Amino acid sequence: MNIHEYQAKELFRSYGIAVPAGRMADTEAMAGDVAEEIGGKSWVVKAQIHAGGRGKGGGVKLAESVEEVRHHADQIIGSHLITAQTGAQGKLVQRVLVEAAHEIKKEFYLGLIIDRTRQRITIIASASGGMDIEDIANSHPDKVIREAVDPAIGLPEFQCRKIAARIGLTGELMPQAVKLMRALYRCFRDKGALMTEINPLAIVDDNKLMALDAKISFDSNAVHRYPEITSYRDFDEEDPKEVEATGHGLNYIALDGNVGCIVNGAGLAMATMDAISLHGGSPANFLDVGGGASPEKIANAFRIVLKDPNVKTILLNIFAGINRCDWVATGVVQAMQDQKIKEPVIIRLSGTNVELGQKIIDNSGLPFIVAKDLDEAARKSVEAVRRVTA
Ligand code: ADP
Ligand code: MG
Repeated sequence: MNIHEYQAKELFRSYGIAVPAGRMADTEAMAGDVAEEIGGKSWVVKAQIHAGGRGKGGGVKLAESVEEVRHHADQIIGSHLITAQTGAQGKLVQRVLVEAAHEIKKEFYLGLIIDRTRQRITIIASASGGMDIEDIANSHPDKVIREAVDPAIGLPEFQCRKIAARIGLTGELMPQAVKLMRALYRCFRDKGALMTEINPLAIVDDNKLMALDAKISFDSNAVHRYPEITSYRDFDEEDPKEVEATGHGLNYIALDGNVGCIVNGAGLAMATMDAISLHGGSPANFLDVGGGASPEKIANAFRIVLKDPNVKTILLNIFAGINRCDWVATGVVQAMQDQKIKEPVIIRLSGTNVELGQKIIDNSGLPFIVAKDLDEAARKSVEAVRRVTA
C-alpha cells in the first residue's frame, strides 16, 4: 500500500525527521491559506499522486508569492499529470502539498528496503541524490552504498556514522544524519514498511539536513495492524475494479491481456493463467472467487471482469470441493441473462455436483463453450479470442 508524500511527511515529522513546514490543500484558496500560514517568501506546490518523477513532469512548482501559489495550485489540481511512472494516460491530481521552499546546497539519496536475499532491512545511500537514482545505480554502481541492518541489534550509531561519512555528510552534518537515519529505521520497522525513500535528502539553508521528498510503501498484508496507516489509504489511486472486487470478497488483480478469468482458488487461478499463456493467449486478470461461490458472487465476478474493455472472452474454471458446480452454473446462467453478455464464455466445471451443474449449463439454451479439462478450456479461450478479433 502506497501513501502520499504529505502523509509520509506527517509520519516523518512524528518521528522527529526534519521536513519542510507544509500542509495538504485540495483547492486553490486553501493552497493560498496554507502558504500564508507557513509564512516566508517562497513555497513549492507539489502534486500529490502515487507516482514519482513529478518534478520532471511539471508537478512540482516554485512560487515566489501567495498569488503564485494559488495560480500553481489551480493549474495542478484537476490536471492529469504524466510522469515516467504514471503511464501515458497520466494520473488525476486531486490535492497538492504546499510547503516552504528551501535553498538547496546539495542533494543526497537515502532509502530503506527489505533485501529478501539477505533477510535484512538494508540502507541505500548515495551522494548523487536528486531525480534519477535508478540511472546512477546502473551507470555508477560504486556511487550507491548498501548497508544491511542486523535485526538483533537494530541500527547502531556507528553504522549510521559509517554511511554518513561515505556519502560525505561530515562535521556538523554527521549528528543530524545519524539522528535522521535512526528515526527513519524506527519508523520503517514500527509501521511494517516495505520501502521508504528520501530523494532528495538535502543540505539546505545554513547546513541543515532535511527530507525534501518522502515516499513510503507498506505491506498490505500487515497494514491492518496499524490503523493510523490504514487511514492513509487513498482509494482514488487504486484500480476501481480491484477496490470493488475486495468489497465483494473477490481477489481480483487487473492485467493487460484479453482473456477474462474467473476461477476458484488462487493456485488454480495461477495455473489457468499459465495454461492460457501456454496456448499463446494472455490473461486479462487474476480472479479468485474463493470457496463459497454463491450465484451473486459469480455475477459480481462477471461484472468486474467485463468492466475491462480489453476482455474479448471469459474463461470460467471451477474445481468444486467446498463449492458446488450447480451453484456456480446457476450464477453463470443468471449473469449471462441479466448482464446480456455477448462475449464467448468458456466453461470448465469439475468436482462436487458436476453433473447437476453441467445439466443447468446444457438446459440454459445459452451458447456456452464447454471444455472437459483445463488444457482444453485454455485452448478454446485462445481460439475464441482469435475468432472475435479476426
Ligand atoms: P519527484 O521525486 O516526484 O520529482 P520531489 O519531491 O523530489 O518530486 O521534487 C522534485 C525536486 O524539487 C527535488 O529534487 C528538489 O530539487 C525540488 N524540491 C522539492 N521540494 C522542495 C522544497 N521544499 N524546497 C526546495 N526545493 C524542493
Ligand atoms: Mg523525489
